[in-house]
Amino acid sequence: MARAYNFSPGPAALPEPVLRQAQADMLEFGDAGASVVEISHRGPEFLEVARRTEADLRTLLSIPDDYAVIFTAGGATTIQALLPLNFAAAGQPVDYVLTGHWGKTAMKQAASGCDARIAASSEAGGFRDLPSRSAWMLSAGAAYVHVTANETIHGVEWREIPDAGNAPLIADFSSSIASEPLDVSRFGAIYAGAQKNLGPVGIATLIVRRDLLECAGQPRAPVFDYRAQLEAESMLNTPPTWNWYMLGLTVKWMLDEGGVAEFAVRNARKAALLYAAIDGSGGFYRNEVAVAARSRMNVPFFLHDAALDAAFLSEAKQAGLVGLKGHRVLGGMRASIYNAMPEAGVQALTDFMREFQKAHG
Ligand code: PMP
Repeated sequence: MARAYNFSPGPAALPEPVLRQAQADMLEFGDAGASVVEISHRGPEFLEVARRTEADLRTLLSIPDDYAVIFTAGGATTIQALLPLNFAAAGQPVDYVLTGHWGKTAMKQAASGCDARIAASSEAGGFRDLPSRSAWMLSAGAAYVHVTANETIHGVEWREIPDAGNAPLIADFSSSIASEPLDVSRFGAIYAGAQKNLGPVGIATLIVRRDLLECAGQPRAPVFDYRAQLEAESMLNTPPTWNWYMLGLTVKWMLDEGGVAEFAVRNARKAALLYAAIDGSGGFYRNEVAVAARSRMNVPFFLHDAALDAAFLSEAKQAGLVGLKGHRVLGGMRASIYNAMPEAGVQALTDFMREFQKAHG
């Protein structure tokens, strides 16, 4: 089967030029005399990969010098568990703004290391909207306020993340990093698992204001200590070199394509096309998220009759469209349309949706 348009939420579609480069380097990497997966992380070839990847990520996201960039194994979930150990004192309050499944996960992961509190939540409404800033109940003396920039399952995204007052804002950008320009200086820290917009699964990145690495924190093993990880240049132990290298290729591809300003334009166009197809279907398809809170990256939608779900998925696959099954938490469908999804892919999906409706409506 030829490569389909892949709407998977993560691991997700990667740009074809990245895959082709990786294919070549898998056998022989430059003049290393070995595959990129066979060389030492401390050798000159990989150290250059690491240096270039950080430099390119700094350029792509306009990361200020007073922010450190740390690459970690263990995914976004591990970062969620380590946030309180690194940035909160034992028992210190930490505020969570819950806008979907991943905000809840972040809080659950942190709860044993701090006094995790719900500052605001849209759960009562099924996570179909965002809690307005005026409804946030922030704790005095909170170590940080945690938000999820884009909820990958519920398809809810902050178009502008509100300020959190005195406490540093820590944001999970796993499913929307690099999808549009971002003012890093508004945040204490930003983190993201790579497997949506940054590359393959197996590596995550934490972008953190350097002074936060020096304050608070709790006793922790060096491998869980972000200050120690930074001192070791993210190589306190053997890092996931292949994933790091792939992340570097993906970041370079985004720069070559025009950077985050260009992706903001493309992503807005793609999302508008897909939501228009859903909203214009006369109820055959529906998205339940409040319009102003709709994600540009993950578009969950339901067919008017769930009995058609299996036919939708199998006919979509025949039409060269894969990865559309919704998350088990919500059911239905979900189209994830990250940076690597071309507009032609979203056009093909909306064309298919109209044809399917004609055949089954
Ligand atoms: N946060 C968000 C927004 C996510 O989408 C995900 C994974 N889909 C996670 C956290 C967890 O990431 P990981 O599986 O890399 O730990």
